Amino acid sequence: MALIVQKYGGSSVADAEAIKRVAQRIVAQKKAGYDVVVVVSAMGDTTDELFDLAEQVSPLPPGREMDMLVTAGERISMALVAMAIGNLGYEARSFTGSQAGVITTSLHGNAKIIDVTPGRIQEALDEGSICIVAGFQGVSQDSKDITTLGRGGSDTTAVALAAALDADACEIYSDVDGVFTADPRIVPSARRIPHITYEEMLELAACGTKILHLRCVEYARRYNIPLHVRSSFSQKPGTWVVAQVEETEGMEQPIISGVAHDRSEAKITVVGVPDQVGEAATLFKVLADAEINIDMIVQNVSAASTARTDISFTVPSDFGQQALAALKRVQEKVGFESLRYDDQIGKVSLVGAGMRSYPGVTARFFDAIAGSGTNIEMISTSEIRISVIVEQDQVDAAVAAAHSAFQLDADQVEAVVYGGTGR
Ligand code: ASP
Ligand code: MG
Repeated sequence: MALIVQKYGGSSVADAEAIKRVAQRIVAQKKAGYDVVVVVSAMGDTTDELFDLAEQVSPLPPGREMDMLVTAGERISMALVAMAIGNLGYEARSFTGSQAGVITTSLHGNAKIIDVTPGRIQEALDEGSICIVAGFQGVSQDSKDITTLGRGGSDTTAVALAAALDADACEIYSDVDGVFTADPRIVPSARRIPHITYEEMLELAACGTKILHLRCVEYARRYNIPLHVRSSFSQKPGTWVVAQVEETEGMEQPIISGVAHDRSEAKITVVGVPDQVGEAATLFKVLADAEINIDMIVQNVSAASTARTDISFTVPSDFGQQALAALKRVQEKVGFESLRYDDQIGKVSLVGAGMRSYPGVTARFFDAIAGSGTNIEMISTSEIRISVIVEQDQVDAAVAAAHSAFQLDADQVEAVVYGGTGR
């Protein structure tokens, strides 16, 4: 029998009504003759609320207890969804990540999946049950403690289960009708992308498009699992994320797939770094040791008069203070003058596999950014992406300008935002 894995985000299970609606959809799939495994997120903003609550009782809660706390959110929704399905006359059983066989590393808050052994899920399926699995969580192979996969990690649970169970499809449900050429909350004329490659989706996700968890896309690519990203509030087709997009009816693929933005980074400038062999290595080593991810890096040529240079880079702002502390520890050793910190920045990225073979994309992008009155502070590129750092207040204008410059606007508004969280 064909097997479908479905994942419902927080806005799709936000309250009792929503849960009953989702239960109907799941049962419809089962009635159509499929085996169904469902992965759920926590209801609405539950995860955020649990984080807030923890902060109120302890400034720096231990990772183990944090994971115990936040995984409760998914347990609530999985049990409620199973009950709602039962009420429709179908047999459903809920499983925690650990019961579903999601085995992870032991890094609390950001564990990686090592293995998936879904024996109990397979058994329940064989007995005709619909399986509801708590997303975003697993159990550490070493410590046997409960872990979480990082914010938005339920997508990754779904893909990992789809791979382990050899599912025929993996559907990711949220409150928008798929992946759009820009965030419809900023650009209402954004267009739905019917098909996109893993490669482009990875760049979009890495650049702030929140509709899919980055690791979920990496996982899907590795196991070649086609993803269908769609809304649980409509029956419309969404976006297929696949290895290769066929050219339809002689139409070439567009050069640009979309414009992404991210307001979650901060910029650190190390001022007056002596221009000598090994200084950059020392700086970035201390950040790596603190497990801080670096994104963009810019180093200026050194001023001839001082033989010193400035190095700027971006980090997730959640790790900003840690990064500064780590750098201060090597200030004397490296001999740099000072540190500057700015978290009022945003990143705007243009993504498209077509830019590989199409000259002039960068010029047009920069022209559009300039046209919106936005100053560019940093630039970085990959083969299929150009990103700029701008002032945070300018992000919306820059995104809209780039979107129009590459003729991505739809003639008619097609983006409907059903929920409000984009998950
Ligand atoms: N509930 C978790 C979060 O909000 C996981 C998820 O939604 O995928 O990050
Ligand atoms: Mg959530």
